[in-house]
Amino acid sequence: MNPPDETDQSENILIVDDQANNLRILSEILAKKGYKIRKAINANSALKAVYSTLPDLILLDIRMPEMDGYQFCERIKADAQTSEIPIIFLSALDEVFSKVKAFQVGGVDYITKPFQEAELMARIENQLIIQRQKKQLQAEIKKRQEKELELQAEIEKRKETEEILYQSRALINSVLNSSMDGIAALQSIRDQAGAIIDFRCLLVNPVMTRMLRYKKEKLIGKIMLKIFLQNLDAKLFNNFVEVVKTGKPLEKDFFYKKENDERWYHFIALKLGDGFSITVRDITQRKLMELELQRLARVDGLTGVANRLCFDETLAKEWQRCRREQEPLSLILCDVDYFKKYNDTYGHLKGDECLIEIAKAISRAVKRPTDLVARYGGEEFVIILGNTATEGAITVAKVIQEKVQQLKIPHQTAKDKNYITLSIGVASVIPYPKLSPKILIASADRALYEAKEQGRDCLIIGNCLLENITLQ
Ligand code: GH3
Ligand code: MG
Ligand code: MG
Repeated sequence: MNPPDETDQSENILIVDDQANNLRILSEILAKKGYKIRKAINANSALKAVYSTLPDLILLDIRMPEMDGYQFCERIKADAQTSEIPIIFLSALDEVFSKVKAFQVGGVDYITKPFQEAELMARIENQLIIQRQKKQLQAEIKKRQEKELELQAEIEKRKETEEILYQSRALINSVLNSSMDGIAALQSIRDQAGAIIDFRCLLVNPVMTRMLRYKKEKLIGKIMLKIFLQNLDAKLFNNFVEVVKTGKPLEKDFFYKKENDERWYHFIALKLGDGFSITVRDITQRKLMELELQRLARVDGLTGVANRLCFDETLAKEWQRCRREQEPLSLILCDVDYFKKYNDTYGHLKGDECLIEIAKAISRAVKRPTDLVARYGGEEFVIILGNTATEGAITVAKVIQEKVQQLKIPHQTAKDKNYITLSIGVASVIPYPKLSPKILIASADRALYEAKEQGRDCLIIGNCLLENITLQ
């Protein structure tokens, strides 16, 4: 709202007089000056005029029929809507006029008839100026109040936003602090060409600091991921760069060792702004269990040597390796002699103990780390000897026989000996593409059969050429 112009003379003046002559004289003078003039011949029509449009000033005759000027003035002053309108009384010189009463009922000035134009204008202008200034002041006060209200509303809004922020921060903190997983947020550090050269740590939760065994202060705000990952897995850095570039999440297991503490972790990295967030879970227990299960799945439950599954896998691998290297590969197949009778004589528990001792003895006879001792089934053991030709395999087989004999496990039903013996079949071959590793098993098996035929407790060398086994 613009403040009224001080030179604005189009203000609205209401003249109330029961003398038509007075009304005419006054309105002529004022209209000449550019004011908007309304006239009322009595108090009642003056009231109607007041309420239809509030005048800026009222010139009010005192003596009027029905309601005189004082009463009219009191009415106007009693109503808050109209009380601010200045009223100047008009009084004739011969009238009985109480200035005191005029001011008491709320008049602001008085003018005596007959009017002197200069005085009349001076008094009217005076009141209008006061009125304008009053209005201006009121407008300013209103504006200020509105501004204050706006400010107040702004403050309230900020307070609410701060509260929401505080609560969401508190929520995030409680989630971070109560999480069983390590959580961190990292921001990309880019070179001038925009390539990611490292990451800055923005946030870590307590579990993460414990996992890394670094204090929070050593991590927050630090640009150190590249150096850190170099000691761990240099490829991981590029993996994280890819997460930021492509937005594709990365999920991985990794091994972390610090100060002799070996741990397995599983992490998920997700793009977050110009960086990524990472959630890390300690899976050491699960991993150790998995590894133990994997080991157990390849170990014979009774004797502790490799089982059939492990034998099959190892033979296939060794076959490929020796084929590539064109090196000989040998197999020793051992079978305990008259073991059924041993069980029948001493019972199955003793039979089990006997198999355990035999497995240990065979293992003692086998020296190279790449050699594998496995239980082939029942009371049969098999040994894979990579990079070993027939002569070497015969030497090992003889040591095995010797070691088992040294156990001197009593067995009354043995033919001419009174302790446990083995029959052994040996097979050797340099693998070539068309052959299958089955040829070794078949050849060693045939030799073993031969050894049994020849009265047991002996060693027979197989001939792979006799076996008709190829890959087709
Ligand atoms: P041969 O000299 O011809 O090899 O005669 P053998 O009695 O040893 O052979 P046979 O195949 O007739 O019997 C093998 C025996 O081995 C029968 C079986 O009860 C026993 N055996 C196989 N596995 C186990 C085991 O895990 N524990 C025990 N106690 N005995 C086993
Ligand atoms: Mg057997
Ligand atoms: Mg046997």
